[in-house]
Amino acid sequence: RTVYVNGQYLPETEATVSIFDRGFLMADGVYEVTSVLQGKLIDFDGHLARLERSLTELDMQKPDAFDDLVEIHRELVRVNQIDEGLVYLQVTRGSDGDRDFVFPDPETTKPTLVLFTQSKPGMADSPAAKKGNKIISIDDIRWGRRDIKTVQLLYPSMGKMMAKAAGCDDAWLVEDGHVTEGTSNNAYIVKGNKIITRGLSNDILHGITRAAVLRFAREAQMEVEERLFTIDEAKQADEAFTTSASAFVMPVVEIDGVVLGDGTPGKVARRLREIYLEESLKSAI
Ligand code: PMP
Repeated sequence: RTVYVNGQYLPETEATVSIFDRGFLMADGVYEVTSVLQGKLIDFDGHLARLERSLTELDMQKPDAFDDLVEIHRELVRVNQIDEGLVYLQVTRGSDGDRDFVFPDPETTKPTLVLFTQSKPGMADSPAAKKGNKIISIDDIRWGRRDIKTVQLLYPSMGKMMAKAAGCDDAWLVEDGHVTEGTSNNAYIVKGNKIITRGLSNDILHGITRAAVLRFAREAQMEVEERLFTIDEAKQADEAFTTSASAFVMPVVEIDGVVLGDGTPGKVARRLREIYLEESLKSAI
């Protein structure tokens, strides 16, 4: 695989970052994941806009190559021959060769920029989406700025492991009885024909797939309600699903052992998955 590091395209075995990099020492970094379908970037503008916002919120400089990011994404997709898969991008605050809680001088310390691709054949026509996910609920003990897409992914990663240990696929995070989001996705329930999902705030990541799916749902005259919902309400819902750039719309068929509907992906989730795959390709670049 060819990867990109700080201005250079290199074989992955030759790409290096300093051990003093604040991304490594302090999780002082942000990231984006853009999906690739038919060799094209899905929702790219949304990911770029959110990256810019994450950098601003953390007082992090834009990397020099910021304006070239679309070309860098495309070049990696091209050289690595990605038809279906992902482009991962990470920006960290870099390093001045020391470890200090105080941020290094932005005049002399440049951010680190890394990109690589992952090939995921079968991402659109996914067997997992046909079965639907079983999820568990766990306490949301993450920090208070979940709207910033940082690389602090230890707890979400532990949540996934807890789900696997329970024979499930994923976990939903719960705070004060209300579902915030999934470990790596936004969470929705469906009652009748109404799609219910938590509104945007600092409590959740502002999913790029969420924005697109809600837009497509409204355009298709489906009813959308952005409000808090409890994990108990979720267990009584007709259906549930999650959205993310890497899994699009993923039906949820079981929550904490409670089977939703007949235990197969619901019709709203299936329809939204179809609409999203079709519509997002139209604006793919
Ligand atoms: N919430 C969290 C916590 C996530 O990690 C992700 C995906 N990285 C999402 C939601 C979904 O965001 P997007 O649709 O932009 O992938």
